[in-house]
Amino acid sequence: MIIQLPEKFFQWYDWKRYAYVDDGILYIKGDVNYENLMYSLTYSIYDYQYCAYCDHKLTMETRTLDHMYPRNWGGISIPDNLIPSCSSCNGQKSNMTVAQYIQWLETESGSRSELYAKFVRENEKEMNQRYILPDEWVTAFNVGDVIDELNFETIERFGNDKIDLYYQLHHHYPRPIVISANNWVFKGIHILYHAKQNGIKTVSCIRLDNVIRIKE
Ligand SMILES: [Zn+2]
Repeated sequence: MIIQLPEKFFQWYDWKRYAYVDDGILYIKGDVNYENLMYSLTYSIYDYQYCAYCDHKLTMETRTLDHMYPRNWGGISIPDNLIPSCSSCNGQKSNMTVAQYIQWLETESGSRSELYAKFVRENEKEMNQRYILPDEWVTAFNVGDVIDELNFETIERFGNDKIDLYYQLHHHYPRPIVISANNWVFKGIHILYHAKQNGIKTVSCIRLDNVIRIKE
């Protein structure tokens, strides 16, 4: 997928680590913290003065970025899935999608907890089939194409129990992996490692087609 990017962006960490946007492409050099970078990009795109849900003015203390498709249902951190919101709306929305949250807000307060429980049940059920994300975001990734094999060593040291347990229960992974256009893995190295160990050939993936990881 092509993610939203600001027209101009430059983030400097040190000589070996930086990120910039040029002609609609995000270039990332070195071991940059993926989540922080996506948050910075999102803040560069939006005028983040007001909460997207309650329209209250945001301050440095109250501003957050909400995952419109919640993390628990496969929602990843990309500008297309992040929206400025106040901490109280973000907390209140919790594990609801935007559409569910709007419905929840329109419901009288006495019936809200029941409705929330219903949404969570429905989302859990749907997660057995697919992620709660737009279909066009998700593609399949061939596990053999992974290029940062080095990271696997870390996983061997720290173990992989949670992923294994999830996979045994659901027969798929909790979220898609996230990779650059040139197959660099930003998120999901544990998933890839598990797939490799268990002979699983492909995993669900969100490929950021306008993001390139510059090689060392
Ligand atoms: Zn708000």
